[in-house]
Amino acid sequence: MAGTTAAYDDVIVGAGSAGCVLARRLVDAGHRVLLIESGGLDTRPEIHNPGMSLALWNTEVDYAYVTEPQPHAAGRRLGWPRGKVVGGSSSINGMIYARGVPQDYDNWAYRGCLGWDWDTVLPYFKRSEDHEDGPSALHGHGGLLPVRRNNDPNPLSAAFVAAAQQADLPFVTDPNSQDYLGVSYTQHTVLDGRRRSTWTSFVEPILGNPALTVITGAVVSRLVLDAGRCTAVEYIIQGRTERAHAHNEVILSGGAMGSPQVLLLSGIGPADELRALGIDVQVDLPGVGANLHDHLICPVLWETTQPLPPLSVQGLEVNIFWKSNPALTVADTQPLLVHGPYLGDDPSVPENGFTCLGGLIRPHSRGRLWLRSTDPTTPPAMDPQVFSDPHDLEVMADSVELVREIGRQPALDEWRKDEWAPGSDVTDRDAVRDYVRTHVQTYHHQVGTCRMGVDRNAVVDPRLRVHGVDGLRVVDASIMPDVPSGNTNAPTIMIAERAADLLLGKLGK
Ligand SMILES: Cc1cc2nc3c(=O)[nH]c(=O)nc-3n(C[C@H](O)[C@H](O)[C@H](O)COP(=O)(O)OP(=O)(O)OC[C@H]3O[C@@H](n4cnc5c(N)ncnc54)[C@H](O)[C@@H]3O)c2cc1C
Repeated sequence: MAGTTAAYDDVIVGAGSAGCVLARRLVDAGHRVLLIESGGLDTRPEIHNPGMSLALWNTEVDYAYVTEPQPHAAGRRLGWPRGKVVGGSSSINGMIYARGVPQDYDNWAYRGCLGWDWDTVLPYFKRSEDHEDGPSALHGHGGLLPVRRNNDPNPLSAAFVAAAQQADLPFVTDPNSQDYLGVSYTQHTVLDGRRRSTWTSFVEPILGNPALTVITGAVVSRLVLDAGRCTAVEYIIQGRTERAHAHNEVILSGGAMGSPQVLLLSGIGPADELRALGIDVQVDLPGVGANLHDHLICPVLWETTQPLPPLSVQGLEVNIFWKSNPALTVADTQPLLVHGPYLGDDPSVPENGFTCLGGLIRPHSRGRLWLRSTDPTTPPAMDPQVFSDPHDLEVMADSVELVREIGRQPALDEWRKDEWAPGSDVTDRDAVRDYVRTHVQTYHHQVGTCRMGVDRNAVVDPRLRVHGVDGLRVVDASIMPDVPSGNTNAPTIMIAERAADLLLGKLGK
């Protein structure tokens, strides 16, 4: 039984990328909001230092999830870092600001998600943005989220950009524009040398507002349903179970793993699976946990003749958007330069080196997530089914080959010693495929487990309401029907901006 009960207008579960944006907009509109977060405050200094992101992995601010063994990736389990702290994954991510392309959102609309086409979502991207170039048709200015260019790239990044141009890729000045195909310096959410998470940008400035209550270190264990309506949440804090009532709505913003986990724990999901765990079925929603997918990377590493120059911003200064097949209408690969030697779970790296990740951004493979236990602190099982569609392996191999070609160009002569991995002995396509299977990693863009749509397997409708339950929405990366072709923080923030208008009744009923 729950102990203390308190009441709010809206209860938001998860103070991550989406939850913080939504909380801010609802509080600004005069709602009394409770924001519940299982992690703690962002007191670790590395969070705020853009060059220290990797130091956050496997600490108390990281869920450090591990997938099921991946049969098409040499049977490996992939590590999945996720933020367990205010700001969520925006407090531990790579700070790249990328939106994807208009076709991503037009495709969501085409699949039945009315109101999520590019022309409709662009104003929501712009609303949160404070882009250094000032207002334009594509960018917002004066918003709460600083978006900056890299105006002073370090010499290795500049050499890599020159090498990409020598390999016939055009230079792109704004990767968030219609002319995004080519090599560009990443735009980022860093201001004055400090990370800007959604917590520091949206919530921290209003912590003194009495309409906002933030509870950290509290794991939401269950939704309370009354005659088909979600009226409250239960959460565990310091060993006690407490309850918070929502007069208006409960919003799940627990991310691609957290939101489906809370739904399943509450009896909303595939009925057979729930019964097998002894959970009372409230709503048989077969799509909860399905459609799990992710972008993927595969590192190419060069040993260098000298130590790397200091970073100018964060460790990911250059990216490429490119088509593995010129007949495609949009990019399906996004290679990314990493300032240092990085092979993921393979520790055999040289002392001095740099890496460029091959990147797959339009995956065909789909996996799923399910509960292992009714204990809310036990992570769910996650099986992305990496490369279960053989198309994805081929595109990743193409992306790796593109990156290797760039690495051979004269502009990198000053830096490059040898290709360390895959290495000069990996030449034929089969060997490249083997390398990819043994070195593929997450791009950290898991989405889709509470898919928005209008079909039987969709979890939320286009107004983000959970099918079959009143007073309950999901607002985070889990609602994306298909992952956009770029990093997912900006699209998640856009979703929260639009969700705020839906909740505030600005877009009809
Ligand atoms: C290492 C890493 C690097 C990345 N790099 C980039 C990048 O450079 N650019 C980019 O655009 N994207 C990047 N991403 C992806 C991007 O950060 C995520 O897609 C985005 O943050 C997802 O937002 P969200 O709101 O869906 O989830 P999250 O931000 O993960 O927030 C979910 C929150 O809910 C909380 N929560 C979950 N369950 C419960 C519960 N039961 N009770 C209470 N609280 C709960 C969690 O603790 C968390 O704080 C990266 C991600 C990672 C992990």
